Amino acid sequence: MNMIAAVPAWDAFAKKALDGEPLTVEEGLAVLEANDDELLPLMQAAFRVRKHYYGKKVKLNMIINAKSGLCPEDCGYCSQSIVSTAPVPKYTLLEKDTLLAGAREAMARKAGTYCIVAAGRGPTERELAQVVDAVKEIRATMPLKICACLGILKDGQAKRLAEAGVDRYNHNLNTSKANYPSITTTHTYDQRIETVEKVKMHGMSPCSGVIIGMGETNQEMIEMAYALRELDADSIPINFLNAIPGTPLEHAGRIPAMKALKVLALFRFICPAKEIRVAGGREVNLRSLQPLSLYAANSLFVGDYLTTAGQAITADHQIIEDMGFEIELNAR
Ligand code: SF4
Repeated sequence: MNMIAAVPAWDAFAKKALDGEPLTVEEGLAVLEANDDELLPLMQAAFRVRKHYYGKKVKLNMIINAKSGLCPEDCGYCSQSIVSTAPVPKYTLLEKDTLLAGAREAMARKAGTYCIVAAGRGPTERELAQVVDAVKEIRATMPLKICACLGILKDGQAKRLAEAGVDRYNHNLNTSKANYPSITTTHTYDQRIETVEKVKMHGMSPCSGVIIGMGETNQEMIEMAYALRELDADSIPINFLNAIPGTPLEHAGRIPAMKALKVLALFRFICPAKEIRVAGGREVNLRSLQPLSLYAANSLFVGDYLTTAGQAITADHQIIEDMGFEIELNAR
């Protein structure tokens, strides 16, 4: 795509998104392969779509690592997996008081959503009961939305979480169906789809996203965006691999910052009305270009990730303020 033809093309992509039409594969490739000199017009077009649905509001989310390490699965990107030698904290599910203290911290950071994340293939009955107990109390005492991320759910478990007041359940697709077996062998892509469908069936909002930078092709990134559009995920965290020493993907390298922005624009065009979150790996991959991500994304994680540090909350609040955006305080 030459520079003269490109500018109107991005506007046309924004119009298509606003008309509810997904980009074609060729158009998606044009976004991902855009000349770096086209970055600002491209992000401006993504911003048109983002602004239509979300104005200049930014949703903040805070994670608590409610159960760390000790996971029998072999996800190649994960420092908590059985095949990782990364020195991560290992502990069983946190006590209720600690989960409640985390919720109060989320409030202090102006996060509207508190994400309770536990390592593992899926929750045991005991773990589920502990989460249910904490969720009921948080819902009764704080105006937070609650997202749970506990792995693959068995029959009945999604229902119990929904009844306890869990608003949203996160279960990422992570990568393309074709690339899945090279990332994880202990569960399948289809099992992940099944859990997201269970979540929807019980009325929780589906949160499902990807990790970019795990050997997927540009075409596969587009397939991932189509898959999430098809799945009707309300919230789409876009993680950029933070290659952790000791994990199988430790040498995968980082995504160039401008490419990461093109990926965010792609997801905004293909899933225009959804909450697109710049998630894990934001700081190490986007680096000094982090502020531009808000032109496509309308949601951020604040604070630390599961086993890696985020940046200071003041830095995130500063980006939002300096860009003229506004934190969306919880509507609950
Ligand atoms: Fe286990 Fe989840 Fe890590 Fe996979 S991503 S190894 S399921 S904690």
